[in-house]
Amino acid sequence: RVDALAAGLLSETDLERGSDARVGVLLHTSPAFATLCFAAMRIGLSLVPLNVRETPTELESKVERTDPALLVCEPSTAGLAAELVAETETDLPIRSLESAGDGRVEEHDERQRGSKKEDVVHHVEPLVDPTATTREAPDSVTLDRSTTQFVLFTSGTSGEPKGVRLTVGNLVASATASAFRLGVSPADRWLCCLPMYHMGGLAPVIRSALYGTAVVVQREFDPEATARVVGEYDITGVSLVPTMLERLLEADWSPPESLRFVLLGGAPATEDLLERCDRAGVPAYPTYGMTETASQIATATPDVRTTAPGTVGQPLAFADVSIVDNDGARLESGHRGELVVDGPMVTPGYLEDARTEAAFGLHGLHTGDVGYRDENGFLWVVGRLDDRIVSGGENVDPSEVAAVLESQSGVRRAAVVGLPDEEWGERVAALLVPEDPSAPPTVERLLDHCTDDLAGFKRPKTVTVVEDETLPRTPSGTVDREAVRELIERNGRDVP
Ligand code: ATP
Ligand code: MG
Repeated sequence: RVDALAAGLLSETDLERGSDARVGVLLHTSPAFATLCFAAMRIGLSLVPLNVRETPTELESKVERTDPALLVCEPSTAGLAAELVAETETDLPIRSLESAGDGRVEEHDERQRGSKKEDVVHHVEPLVDPTATTREAPDSVTLDRSTTQFVLFTSGTSGEPKGVRLTVGNLVASATASAFRLGVSPADRWLCCLPMYHMGGLAPVIRSALYGTAVVVQREFDPEATARVVGEYDITGVSLVPTMLERLLEADWSPPESLRFVLLGGAPATEDLLERCDRAGVPAYPTYGMTETASQIATATPDVRTTAPGTVGQPLAFADVSIVDNDGARLESGHRGELVVDGPMVTPGYLEDARTEAAFGLHGLHTGDVGYRDENGFLWVVGRLDDRIVSGGENVDPSEVAAVLESQSGVRRAAVVGLPDEEWGERVAALLVPEDPSAPPTVERLLDHCTDDLAGFKRPKTVTVVEDETLPRTPSGTVDREAVRELIERNGRDVP
């Protein structure tokens, strides 16, 4: 399949082998997506995976910034691809990975756009002629470590998503370092149920090919379907964000014996979640990583949980993680500061040179995350620099306040943000998810219980209690702070 697709890419388009041309990808997570990754590697093209859940307007700037020579879609994304190209006002060619029977692809758009039914039919030619029976494999190019293989966009938690260049060397280093921490066995089967247009979904696919092990690709996470696939396919490892694991546990998941690891990253895993994992026999490996590090850069094995609770473990092999102060100088263990990452899995930079220059310092890439390390090299991630609240000149760490609120009875989850304040510059505001929505806690009483743990300037001045079961999250599982801020601004109540 890889051969046929590589040949199709060369013969059905103007793309040239080894030209470093970029190919935009609008595909759902699927084996076909994996095939495209390896076909592109074979002939030296780089891929720009795009989020199929975004709108043409959201995708437009990503396409403009990466300037692909071709856009690859499938029948379910052909309509989105056509709209996107119309939006960019270019004649960017679109090809489909599959045909819909008659050799042509017709729009069959799954997205709900209000009640409006699109009656435009887009015809997209397939990349591989479905009637062709034999096809010569094109000569493969020699991959250079420094070749950019993917441009992957970050989740956009802290602003406009950044286009991260990931090289062949980054991917190989990430796979190698991960294997040192997790081990590899010939019977391994990694389940990929995170979107392949994010690093967490792409990594298992690339790694499994390098290891020579199997990967099982599931189009979308769903607690029941994912639990079933893990059992039926004798899955040995799976990558999840904490909210997914929470949903699996709520559905009374008990993993099969085959399962060696659940790589848990993208957002902090709470102690409560990890305790529930222990009870359910889920081998959770809390992990820190980001698009810029080609996924994991630190991972905790389950045995360290008792000696270093809450840790994301030590950095992986070949990786350096430093904690630095505001001037970029390294801090000693035990001190909080910005996490700076370095090593062969770290991106050479972003699409835009100015962004690259702003992010790299003496010790590596400044992540914008805040954390600390103990004397054994175990790391803790406590939040993001951007989220830090400055109230009356005092720094407030929202994760610290949220942890105190979550330790109160009746509170299931808490999110803390800063709101503009005329007197103090910023004031601390909190959103609470009650344990029991029918009996929400009394906010004043709850805050009075926190006075021992929170100095006055850390005490939330505006609070809202929501009825939802969870906090608003971004697609990658991090707390959606903008949504939290909006909810508090809309419904929050000032408390003395
Ligand atoms: P953007 O860079 O556009 O703001 P993003 O940082 O959310 O978006 P990703 O690369 O998808 O984009 O996410 C990586 C980030 O996720 C990390 O920098 C960190 O903030 C957060 N993260 C990952 N793992 C953990 C973890 N175990 N604990 C806390 N935060 C984590
Ligand atoms: Mg980021």
